[in-house]
This record gives sequence, C-alpha cells and structure tokens, in this order.
Amino acid sequence: MSVETINTLVVGGGQAGVAMSENLSALSIPHIVLERGRIAERWRSERWDSLVANGPAWHDRFPSLKFDDVTPDTFPPKERMAKYFEDYAKLLKAPIRTGVAVTHVKRNEGRPGFTVTTSDGVIEAMNVIAATGPFQTPSYPRIVPEGSGIQQLHSSAYKNPGQLAEGAVLVVGAGASGSQIADELNKAGKKVYLSVGEHYRPPRSYRQRDYCWWLAALGKWDEVKVKPKKEHVAFAVSGYEGGKTIDFRKLAHSGITLVGITRAYVGGVMTFDEGLGKNIAQGDADYFDVLREADDYIVRNGLDLPPEPDAWTIPADPDSLTNPILSLDLAKAGITTILWATGFKYDFNWLDVAAFDDKGDPLQKRGISAEKGIYFLGLPNLTNRSSSFIWGVWHDAKYIADHIWVQQDYLAYDKA
Ligand SMILES: Cc1cc2nc3c(=O)[nH]c(=O)nc-3n(C[C@H](O)[C@H](O)[C@H](O)COP(=O)(O)OP(=O)(O)OC[C@H]3O[C@@H](n4cnc5c(N)ncnc54)[C@H](O)[C@@H]3O)c2cc1C
Repeated sequence: MSVETINTLVVGGGQAGVAMSENLSALSIPHIVLERGRIAERWRSERWDSLVANGPAWHDRFPSLKFDDVTPDTFPPKERMAKYFEDYAKLLKAPIRTGVAVTHVKRNEGRPGFTVTTSDGVIEAMNVIAATGPFQTPSYPRIVPEGSGIQQLHSSAYKNPGQLAEGAVLVVGAGASGSQIADELNKAGKKVYLSVGEHYRPPRSYRQRDYCWWLAALGKWDEVKVKPKKEHVAFAVSGYEGGKTIDFRKLAHSGITLVGITRAYVGGVMTFDEGLGKNIAQGDADYFDVLREADDYIVRNGLDLPPEPDAWTIPADPDSLTNPILSLDLAKAGITTILWATGFKYDFNWLDVAAFDDKGDPLQKRGISAEKGIYFLGLPNLTNRSSSFIWGVWHDAKYIADHIWVQQDYLAYDKA
C-alpha cells in the first residue's frame, strides 16, 4: 500500500493552522493541514453562544484580510470569527483537510521524518507542527464528587443560561470566561456567586484607545512573560456588550456575590480562601499602573488624547468584599450548579516524540522543539505575550516557516 508523503504536516485548523499554511505557502513549502472538526472548530462548538472576540476587528485579524462587514472597533461574534478563518483559508486556497484527526506521530527509525497515523490513513512527513491550540482539554479541580446532586460543567461546555438547572450557580474562575458568564447568568435572573482568585483586569480602553492598542504602545505584547508571579493569573478582559472594563465591584453591585478562591467541599459545604480583598486590591493596583503608564506615554509622545477622569473612579466596596463569605452550605444557598471557568491543560498524547519535559510540557524555544522536525504553534508565551492571540500567532508561524525553509536547505546540501 502506498503511503502519502508531504514535507510538512500541520495538525489543527484553527487560527494557528491557517496562519501556518499562509506562511508555508509563501516559502513554497509543500504542506497539508489536518483538522479533526471544521476550520476554527473551537470558536464554533467549544465556546458559549454570546461570546465575541476579545479584541476589536481592526486588531484581531491576519494581515491579508480585513473584516468587510463590521466596523473596525466592533468585537466580532464567535461565528463571525470562525467565518473569518474559513474565508481566509479559502482566500489562500489552503490545503486543509477537515474531519481528519491525527492520532499518533512517531519519529521514523533509521531515516528522517515522522510516521503520522490519522483517522484517514498514514502520512509520512519531514516536519510536524502541533497547532492544536492553547486551550486543549478542560481542567477543573475534582473537589465535588460526581453524584453529589450538583450539576457541574466546564466553561467549554457552557452555551447559555437555559442549560443550567433551576437555582443558584457558583461560577469558579474570574478570567475572561468566568466574569462574562457570571454577568450573563446574573442578567438572566440567576442568583450568582463568583469565585475570584488572582487576576489581571486592565482597562478595556483608556483615553480613546483600546487596550490592544495600549498593549502595543506600551510594549506589553512583546513581553516574553508577564511578570513571573502573573504567569498563570486569569486575564479578565472581554469585548462583550461593545467592550467594557471588567470591574468586580460593579458586578457585585449588579447582584453577583463575590467569594474568594474555591478551596474544598466537605459535607455539602464549600469553603473559600480569605484572600478575596487582597486579590481585588492587586487587580486595582495593576489597573491603575496601566492608566499611569498610558498617561506617561501620552505626555512623552505629545499625543492629543483627552483625559478620562472617570476611569480613575473605583466603586464603593460591596458587602461581599467587606464581609467575605468563607464557607457556604450549597443546598441552603440554593446552589444547584457549579460552572468551572478554571481553564485548560495540554493534551499531546498523540505526539509520541522526545519533545516534552517530565511534566508533559513542550520543550521548545519559539516553537522549535527539542525533537528536530517537531514544532509547536499557538501556545501561550511561545515567543511573547502575543503568541496565543490572533495576530501574534501569525508572526510566530512566519518564524517557524522560515526555520523549516532554512533546514530544507541544509538537507538539500546533504543530498548533493
Ligand atoms: C473564551 C475565549 C476567547 C478568546 N478570544 C480571543 C480573541 O478575541 N482574540 C484572540 O486573539 N484570542 C482569543 N482567544 C485565545 C485564542 O486565540 C483562541 O483560543 C484560539 O482558538 C486559539 O487558536 P489556535 O488555532 O491556536 O487553537 P484552536 O482554535 O484551539 O485550534 C486548534 C484546532 O486543532 C484541532 N485539533 C486538536 N487536536 C487535533 C488532532 N489530534 N488532529 C486534528 N485536529 C486537531 C481542533 O479541533 C481545533 O480546531 C480566546 C480564548 C478563549 C478561551
């Protein structure tokens, strides 16, 4: 039986896979992209109905195509984002095969390249690029046993308020996902408890510039890592309702009860950490740092951007902050659902190569792995802070394509 061969195989047809295809094509590197679902599948089926992009349309896009049907400052809905990547793939005539899952990748013995097993047969490739996303497998602490009678779902399975059991809900995690979902559930008339840990909540916009603009102006997209202590901190920014700053006090004043980090569940009682006030105060301090840095930038560069005094006003502390709840009998509080917005972990089980450390994290630098010919794309902080975001992944893809192109030259020399 003949086995298909290709120079470079890209696994995953999300924004990373599409960006990779464009940059490989630009260097005439033969490749195929395999996507187990549809293009941008996670935007379509693994996010909630009302999700919009976290960045405005002028910013969250690739270089060769603008959004033609939304204004530049709009935050496009998730379906529109998926269509954008599909349109982009069509524009490129990208060789993407959908409905094909990669199940195993193994280095060949005694000859270069990799044998790739897929749901549609075997392919041999000189290079394999894992573009399977920064957020792969739902992750949440198993502190509430199944069979406790409480509905538990992860944010990746949440679609809309109608899905939840009657009664109150505890949303755990207050990053972009948890804070939006909590707000949506509260507005739908649910009693909502929101468990808030360490977070970073920058202004959505300040002095007529969106935060995406400030990230570039202040050099923050280029940061190799957010300050070390903030590496795993929830990033609470969103574009919903036209884009507004996430402010936990405002959420509390609208009816949501804030609690600290969810710690343990014993005999129907959930306990929470004491550090809620400290985490909210740290979030405020970081927020004001951004405003101060932005003000300095405006002065240094002589920009004519009007002051925004309202941005400096913080609402009064809500009761849940001054008298924090440290334990809650879930039944007495009427809580029937726990929604875990606690993030994701990697699943590279299909990638059977020497490119991981003992914790299973990729061993790589700017996407070039410890196993020659294996690359990673789209992971947080791969190159810098922008790496898992739409425009950042495109530039990382360019770097990887360039590396493959250079390596080809070496191989060609060997053959000569
Ligand atoms: C709620 C939320 C909102 C976000 N909003 C924004 C935003 O507005 N702007 C922004 O820049 N970023 C945003 N992000 C971050 C990030 O850009 C997205 O998660 C984005 O989907 C990542 O794209 P990707 O191509 O790297 O990965 P994914 O979109 O996860 O694509 C990976 C693809 O690989 C496929 N796949 C996985 N395993 C296999 C396999 N074994 N074989 C074949 N195919 C496989 C999957 O089906 C998937 O389609 C957001 C993230 C979240 C969670």
